Amino acid sequence: MPQNRPTVLVTGGAGYIGSHAVLSLQQAGYDVVVLDNLVYGHRDIVENVLKTELVVGDTNDRTLLDQLFASRDFAAVMHFAAYAYVGESVTEPAKYYRNNVVGTLTLLEAMLAANIKSFVFSSTCATYGVPETVPIPEDHPQRPINPYGMSKLMVEHILKDFSAAYDFKSVIFRYFNAAGADPEGRLGEDHNPETHLIPLVLQTALGVREHIKVFGTDYDTPDGTCIRDYIHVTDLASAHVLGLEYLLKGGDSTIFNLGNGNGFSVKEVIDTARQVTGREIAVVECDRRPGDPPGLVGSGEKAVQVLGWKPQYADLGNILTHAWNWHQTRHGK
Ligand code: UDP
Repeated sequence: MPQNRPTVLVTGGAGYIGSHAVLSLQQAGYDVVVLDNLVYGHRDIVENVLKTELVVGDTNDRTLLDQLFASRDFAAVMHFAAYAYVGESVTEPAKYYRNNVVGTLTLLEAMLAANIKSFVFSSTCATYGVPETVPIPEDHPQRPINPYGMSKLMVEHILKDFSAAYDFKSVIFRYFNAAGADPEGRLGEDHNPETHLIPLVLQTALGVREHIKVFGTDYDTPDGTCIRDYIHVTDLASAHVLGLEYLLKGGDSTIFNLGNGNGFSVKEVIDTARQVTGREIAVVECDRRPGDPPGLVGSGEKAVQVLGWKPQYADLGNILTHAWNWHQTRHGK
């Protein structure tokens, strides 16, 4: 455990993945300050569960960042703050490029000015686009098929150039499908609007929704539905802590995929949810959702080798059980 509790700034720490990372950082002995504009994040989670300082503001606000960085010593920045609705990114790309790219560049410039040299970045398998090989290796070509994925790829390029030009290092994590919830039930997934499969399936099990729409049953996959690699959010969080420690020990800039290397179809997820919840889950088969690649699976092997990452909740049943516990307390009956 670090001796003098270094402080980490976590942007987007009031959101789904960011909040789980804050919890893992606190458990590993770090002090955390959360910067979040609360457009999608939850104040109550930061104040009542994480019980840490919340700075409400935007990564585009350079004055705020300069004041924040002058107010204390930050060992590093972990950057989750981003808009992440693929469909919205297609209809409102300016919003995505301004927040995800310009906001991140502003943050990075403020870090340079404040001499903060370590950056952990939340990227995505959406930067790969439609994969040529599965499981997708880190050196797979990146050809995103929507502005969200492109905005994350642009930041990846900025980080590469910063590492070459400045005394600055980054760890980039490209996640597959973040899912599940804190195993102790303190945190979980609470998007508004919700577009992700697992929370929608569980809301259907709870009776909050009448049915789950299955987007496409004619894909070239064994049961015709899309395949994704669902990774437990607590495993993602532990990888972020290890990535941070790697940088603080002097590690070079690098990139890791975070997946389990196992794909599950939409129908398999729904079947597993029926088993976990013991409830009926009505399904309506619909057309494909535009922009959905048929299969996305990635291995976390490099993170296992380089960081010593040990995912603990790779099992889909575990992921759904933890998510179910959370949904029952947050939305449930
Ligand atoms: N999906 C679905 N119905 C829904 C939401 C999602 O069939 O109501 C499918 C979607 O087409 C994709 C998979 O579930 O194949 C995972 O989608 P999600 O939005 O959770 O994550 P994504 O892979 O798009 O990041």
